[in-house]
Amino acid sequence: MNIDLHIHTTASDGSLTPTQVVQEAQQAGLGVISVADHDTTSGVAEALEAQDAHDVIVVPGVEISASHPSGEAHILGYWMDHDDPAFQAFLERPRSTRGPRIIEMCKCLRGLGLEVRAEEVFEEAGGKEAVGRPHLAKVLLAKGYVKDMEEAFQGYLIKGAPAYVKRIKNSTAETIAAIHRFGGISVIAHPGLLKGPGLVDSLIQEGAMGIEVLCHEHDSAAAERYSEMADRNGLLKTGGSDYHGDMLEKSFRLGDLQVPYQFYLELKGVKARIQSPTRDR
Ligand SMILES: [Zn+2]
Ligand SMILES: [Zn+2]
Repeated sequence: MNIDLHIHTTASDGSLTPTQVVQEAQQAGLGVISVADHDTTSGVAEALEAQDAHDVIVVPGVEISASHPSGEAHILGYWMDHDDPAFQAFLERPRSTRGPRIIEMCKCLRGLGLEVRAEEVFEEAGGKEAVGRPHLAKVLLAKGYVKDMEEAFQGYLIKGAPAYVKRIKNSTAETIAAIHRFGGISVIAHPGLLKGPGLVDSLIQEGAMGIEVLCHEHDSAAAERYSEMADRNGLLKTGGSDYHGDMLEKSFRLGDLQVPYQFYLELKGVKARIQSPTRDR
């Protein structure tokens, strides 16, 4: 029986609801899955509720975007006490900086002679919480400052462009520590995609407990390399498809990636040794 410890739902940018994900997982013959949405655990409760009717074990998860001086990384967290308000506050922290970032970017644009106000962008986004660069690009387009979204991004909004302002994220060290503080297991997501020099080694030094060895981004040589790295450092091995339904143009289906059940048993063994009041499953 195979497992998949990295799945997105409509709680972030996946196309299936948590219940649909559990249904699909059952149809694909998966025994264990983790709902690991970007920076939110809001899909976890629904997935946990769906698991009993579908004979699929759901591991509560999250995939946190974090920054390190040498680059960006995604850190997976499993089985933390995600309902703890302090953990939710940790996840919320970068979200509360979305508004101020857009205000800064609008200031830069006005300095360039483009009359854009942050309020217009918030209105486009339906609020400050979810606002991002695509909303700003749409406003630029609507005002005729650019001919398409591409020009808005390339000319003004991408890293290095004149109105770019860095997005504030939790650091990788803070993220790993927070997952542990709330009784969870931290895992480096798709290390093969991490660009920063020495980034994976830095994350291990910061205390990451596992490495996502198997994923669609890794060919067999990469999987082998990360597997050896995990062994050398005494880390857990995990695997997941990073399934987003049909939101991303990827050619795989749930269940295509072969992740052994053994990975789940080892993960669970470590969780059992962590003292915390989290739910048991
Ligand atoms: Zn990711
Ligand atoms: Zn992902």
